[in-house]
Amino acid sequence: MIFEHLDTYGHEQVVFCHNKDAGLKAIIAIHNTVLGPALGGTRMWPYKSEQDALNDVLRLSRGMTYKNAVAGLNIGGGKAVIIGDPATDKSEALFRSFGQFVESLGGRYITAEDVGIDVNDMEFVYRETEYVTGVHQVHGGSGDPSPFTAYGTMQGLLATLNRKYGNEEVGNYSYAVQGLGHVGIEFVKLLTERGAKVFVTDINADRVARAVNEYGAEAVGLDEIYDVEADVYSPCALGGTVNEDTLPRLKAKIICGAANNQLATNAIGDEVEKRGILYAPDYAVNAGGVMNVSLEIDGYNRERAMRMMRTIYHNLTRIFEIAERDGIPTYRAADRLAEERIEIIGKLKLPLGRARPRFQGRVRGA
Ligand code: NAD
Repeated sequence: MIFEHLDTYGHEQVVFCHNKDAGLKAIIAIHNTVLGPALGGTRMWPYKSEQDALNDVLRLSRGMTYKNAVAGLNIGGGKAVIIGDPATDKSEALFRSFGQFVESLGGRYITAEDVGIDVNDMEFVYRETEYVTGVHQVHGGSGDPSPFTAYGTMQGLLATLNRKYGNEEVGNYSYAVQGLGHVGIEFVKLLTERGAKVFVTDINADRVARAVNEYGAEAVGLDEIYDVEADVYSPCALGGTVNEDTLPRLKAKIICGAANNQLATNAIGDEVEKRGILYAPDYAVNAGGVMNVSLEIDGYNRERAMRMMRTIYHNLTRIFEIAERDGIPTYRAADRLAEERIEIIGKLKLPLGRARPRFQGRVRGA
């Protein structure tokens, strides 16, 4: 059953990690290392069953292969899950034991934070292995990726406006931003700085108040965000918000935001296309976070990070070109761009040493 799944989706390696004393039950999935070592975060979640955990890590690791390939990184796709409740099951021993398993893979898999894991947990992982990104800035790490993700989302928006309207005048259009967390509020700031009219919503009233008071946004209800007269719908909260119920209500001509997995299904993606709405594929738009941590491998530098975020513009442009070339919706064109890059680069014979991450400029024990 497992090998059948690996066969279908093309995973290279799945590692089950167990340490009874440390209470560790984890799975590391390496999907594809053709472009380079597999990079993807570790998620800690109280999965109902081991099968659920396995399904999640297989799905997420494959997603990272596509995201990293489209981002133009020399990095493959992987992911890890730790089975446990982040509120009650965390310990130094658990994360150090997990770090030892990551170390045992010799750099084929590089980890980072994901849902349920924070930078303090990664400190423990870092004691046991070099192969971790998103470490604290005192070690030469890259810190919070959210402002970079927001800036990258802006680059994606510029490319999408250009495609749709033939100009990049952000301030000429109106926006419905759903979710004002780490990324959403930064994105609202970037939009309003450019003179845009912005509608906002969030379940957290303080965040809404901040967007209204500091950036002059207009607050709307949680459900009302789908009905506002805005040119761009920008999901920056949860996944699956473009679905059968919401799509007929949207007035927007563009969907461009930072949330992961915005389209509820592929069929909805096809319907978005039919309605003449230009969808900026989420994993191409929100790649700023992974780009940022990937720079830790060569030695983190903020200027390089900002320059790299701007490549998101070109990645989106390329996706739109492929969509037109092949007559397919943009969400499929993003997958195709990833597959073409892996295929072509995979045929180049890279020098052996290139496959090994270097991690320059980081300081241990700081
Ligand atoms: P966050 O948890 O800081 O913010 C999410 C916000 O959405 C919160 O303010 C929350 O109250 C709000 N929210 C939740 N449900 C809502 C609802 N139904 N309606 C309106 N608001 C709702 O998360 P974040 O780091 O800002 O990430 C936002 C999205 O972007 C996520 O989907 C995340 O996976 C994705 N993403 C983030 C990064 C990053 O660098 N942080 C990188 C890539 C992708």
